[in-house]
Amino acid sequence: MPDVFADLVGQDEAVVELRRAAAAAAAVLRAGTSASVAAGPTSGDALAAGDAAPAAVDPSAGMTHAWIFTGPPGSGRSVAARAFAAALQCLHGTGCGECPGCHTTMGGTHADVRMVVPEGLSIGVGEMRALVLRAASTPSGGRWQVVIIEDADRLTEAAGNALLKAIEEPPPRTVFLLCAPSTHPDDISVTIRSRCRVVPLRQPPAAAVAEVLVRRDGITPDVAQWAAAAAQGHVGRARRLARDPEARKRREAVLAVPRRLTGVGAAFDAASALIEAAEAEAAASVTEADTAERAALETALGAGGTGRGAAGAMRGAAGQLKELEKRQKSRATRAQRDALDRALVDLAGFYRDALTMALRAPVAPVHTDTAALAGAGAQKWDAEGALRRLEAVLACRAAIEANVKPRIAVEAMMLALWKG
Ligand SMILES: [Zn+2]
Repeated sequence: MPDVFADLVGQDEAVVELRRAAAAAAAVLRAGTSASVAAGPTSGDALAAGDAAPAAVDPSAGMTHAWIFTGPPGSGRSVAARAFAAALQCLHGTGCGECPGCHTTMGGTHADVRMVVPEGLSIGVGEMRALVLRAASTPSGGRWQVVIIEDADRLTEAAGNALLKAIEEPPPRTVFLLCAPSTHPDDISVTIRSRCRVVPLRQPPAAAVAEVLVRRDGITPDVAQWAAAAAQGHVGRARRLARDPEARKRREAVLAVPRRLTGVGAAFDAASALIEAAEAEAAASVTEADTAERAALETALGAGGTGRGAAGAMRGAAGQLKELEKRQKSRATRAQRDALDRALVDLAGFYRDALTMALRAPVAPVHTDTAALAGAGAQKWDAEGALRRLEAVLACRAAIEANVKPRIAVEAMMLALWKG
């Protein structure tokens, strides 16, 4: 197994900072059981517990107990958080990738690393309280309790407050790693932000993404380069495009949209097709998990048993099943929005290509396979027409993010793309 940071593509600066922090954290551990890390992002004068070893708490180079990883989707926020967690649990250095600490963290089985992955649209307060409570316990491996919160921007307000309380009064050996698109107040509350050190990740360049697809996934260089460009810096998306024929088919269907917009009727048809494709993709991704969860819950509640006890348990279980259905519905909605958003990003890439061609900008196209079509669009629409269409796609994304019904937002976009 290579170094734990090997999969963090194109983020050299962040890796240097995280390694330095992991080394400082190891120094805190060596300094003795009573030492703890500095609280707050620039906390030269705010040492937690007051007895930290002075050598280990240089506030700029050292360790702190709360971090936020920010960056665009696919830049590797959760990859960075997990690698940092491994570096903290590493028994030999700062993420050797070989020791049991690294291995179990990267495999998701380390007893002192908890990962919260929200399945629905938000992380609730109950889940957060339980997590904060467990995070306060002494690490069983004698190092750190690490809590990773993926999509911390999906915390409900109450859950955010529960988390804030834990970050304000951190247990001595607990480290919180939050992942969010940005530190905008819409994503992370200002008070949480003020207690965390921020690690900004950038959109990795296509060449770096292609390199990792070749090295790690054994994909041929030409396919890797095409997929890296088409995925616009999203590492996971690039891998899926390179490997999954279904993903490639869906992308081709999306990129066929501009050609099909020949009238009002065609615009509405294209909107329906896009929405239904997103629904189908989302359904395929969640159905299996839904069925397994329901079966597990029913077994736990005694379904299939005979006798009066089992029947009584089943009646009392109706509420729990209802709760599960609510959670699954929320997860399905999220999956649909994610699928639709991927389609809109592909479409935006097409109109961006048309725009850069109309401007004769020396920029490589996002979609090399539809470059000719984008070139034809550039001639027909000019730069202004291409820009208006690009803006229509971006406005659609923003509207859906702001909770406009997806079908309405997509219909409006298709009409704008047709009319220009
Ligand atoms: Zn290690």
